[in-house]
Amino acid sequence: MRHRSSIISLLVVSVIATACGSGSVEMSWAPFTAELAHTFTIATYSRSTTPIVHTEIRYKGVTGYGEAAMPQYLGETTESVCAFLQLANENVISKIKSPRNIEEIMAQIDMLDAPKEGENAVAKKNTAAKAAIDIALNDLVAKLAGQPWWKMHDIDSTKTPITSFTIGYDADDDVVRTKVEEAAWAKVLKVKLGISPEEDRRMISLIREKSDVPIYVDANQGWESKEEALEMMDWLQTQGVVLVEQPMKKELMAEHAWLKERAQLPIIADEACQRLSDIEKLKDAYDGINIKLMKCGGMTEAMKMIESARANGMKVMLGCMTETSVGISAVVQISPLADYADLDGNLLLSNDCFDGVHLYEGRQSLSGRPGIGVVAR
Ligand code: MG
Repeated sequence: MRHRSSIISLLVVSVIATACGSGSVEMSWAPFTAELAHTFTIATYSRSTTPIVHTEIRYKGVTGYGEAAMPQYLGETTESVCAFLQLANENVISKIKSPRNIEEIMAQIDMLDAPKEGENAVAKKNTAAKAAIDIALNDLVAKLAGQPWWKMHDIDSTKTPITSFTIGYDADDDVVRTKVEEAAWAKVLKVKLGISPEEDRRMISLIREKSDVPIYVDANQGWESKEEALEMMDWLQTQGVVLVEQPMKKELMAEHAWLKERAQLPIIADEACQRLSDIEKLKDAYDGINIKLMKCGGMTEAMKMIESARANGMKVMLGCMTETSVGISAVVQISPLADYADLDGNLLLSNDCFDGVHLYEGRQSLSGRPGIGVVAR
């Protein structure tokens, strides 16, 4: 009798163990090509696809999703991301007992490519690969708690900012007009300038033929001098532009400080601001920072960057790459803490393979789904 009952308990334990997974943390990843509905052009290049690597981290039968999106200028590739994920899996993820202490896990992962003495600190960063791990861990841990991520972090889900929608540069006037007409739903437009003073004015004038909503301008480091930037910003202010991102080359700190003293519109650092450690030195040259998960390594660091920006009296913009609904749903969780949102990455795709946040009255809206709220389509 005793023997029979212990067999039954053994069976019950084994069924529960199977149902809950083995208790170890497992990570897998797979490359994906995101296709853009329109070819995308900025000051320095154009493209029609973005390479992405999707991650899954599993624990006790629950799966967290993450992704790395790699636009060319970031310097990461599908190969470099997969190699870093392999390294992180072997050295950190496969050895952890629980996924819950994300800050500590990400600190260990950051150490994997920390520059050794004498090495160039800029050369190694793997921030998109790190974001793919960090997002999956954040999704997983909130799912294990049975809660949406925003709720776990005491964030007001009703306060997501209006998101801008990007109108890419095009040499053909009619293409630009069509793009603006297609974006009639948007309550804020963003336009990539820094092509040439004449072309920049042409783009703004074409948008103004079709729309009177506020405009965010991203010069993408394209303006050549502080005088040119000031002249352009003074004109843009008369055109209903409300902020300017990265007017000149990121190295030109003194020129940006000169511009900040004279320009009326807020200046937001994008290329100049990658991670938490950059913020302190930017406060005299910029009014705010643009935080992107792929630049900073994920949600954990993005939260610290918001805190640091506020402590330095700076505005916060949240931006994105062309990402699927995984990356966008992750950053939208944080967005109620920001002043400006430029979170249209998933809207630019023709093959988004996840369902997550949804547009509602110009905002990316959060749901009550657990984790970052995404499901595979
Ligand atoms: Mg930018």
